[in-house]
Amino acid sequence: MRAISDERWMDLALAAAARAGHAGDVPIGAVLVHEDEILAVAGNRREQDNDPTGHAEVLVLREGGRKLGSWRLQDCTLYVTLEPCPMCMGAAVNARVGRLVFATRDPKAGAAVSCYQLGTDEQLNHRLVITEGVRGREASALLSRFFASLRVGGRDIAWNPGDGADLGTGTGVLPLDRPPLAALHASADHRQE
Ligand SMILES: [Zn+2]
Repeated sequence: MRAISDERWMDLALAAAARAGHAGDVPIGAVLVHEDEILAVAGNRREQDNDPTGHAEVLVLREGGRKLGSWRLQDCTLYVTLEPCPMCMGAAVNARVGRLVFATRDPKAGAAVSCYQLGTDEQLNHRLVITEGVRGREASALLSRFFASLRVGGRDIAWNPGDGADLGTGTGVLPLDRPPLAALHASADHRQE
């Protein structure tokens, strides 16, 4: 029995996702946990940093390695609100992450179960235990609301990632004076991450 539930860790990831959405990035968040201690939490920063590798998962793996003083993260669990893409699954395999928990599937780019199964591929030298569906409804609703708000120009749409989860400072509305054009571009290629 884990001391802290998957749902509680995923709530932190959802809060980071909501903050990323407010900053104009696609709302995806990740948390890295080591033996019931949080190592890192991050939201997607691809647009904010103009960084093609600035996905939430990569950011928490990097910080986790720094904090543990090792790139080997086999005793860690990676929580993420959307099924990881091939780059992030590759990073998790390379980091030897022990367990992956994600909220909702990405049928267009998911590399854990949907399009590729990199966490269980026998050709790779590491396999992860994968749990999916934790806070899936909340994560999916957050993404849907974000893209729906972009379709109307990011204006006048109350954007509340709530749905019962405690999302801290993540709640609110998208900025009225500055539609998140960068995120519009992000959605234009139909990639959710
Ligand atoms: Zn990714």
